[in-house]
Amino acid sequence: MSMRIRKGDKVQVIAGKDKGKAGKVLKVLVSGNRVIVEGIALVKKHLRKRSESEPGGIKEIPSSVHISNVALLCPRCERGRRFGIKILKDKSKIRECTKCHQPL
Ligand SMILES: [Zn+2]
Repeated sequence: MSMRIRKGDKVQVIAGKDKGKAGKVLKVLVSGNRVIVEGIALVKKHLRKRSESEPGGIKEIPSSVHISNVALLCPRCERGRRFGIKILKDKSKIRECTKCHQPL
């Protein structure tokens, strides 16, 4: 299991124009260096009209952000935090907030 940021994680943007916003990771790009986060780095996409039921127009969709610009959202700190890896007695690894030690 990867110890990095994963799909479904709640993250907060820590740099750039969306700094402070939080959202769920929708996708980790193949490179592993970029993520797509719900509601973050929105870009307008022009959709072509396909039919009467799909009239086209402009839709805002999230574009990718570099993984270094987001941090896991710690529910106890209520903000994006760096995380460390803790090895449990049974040798399994967990991510934890480096500030409050909340498992993430
Ligand atoms: Zn914390």
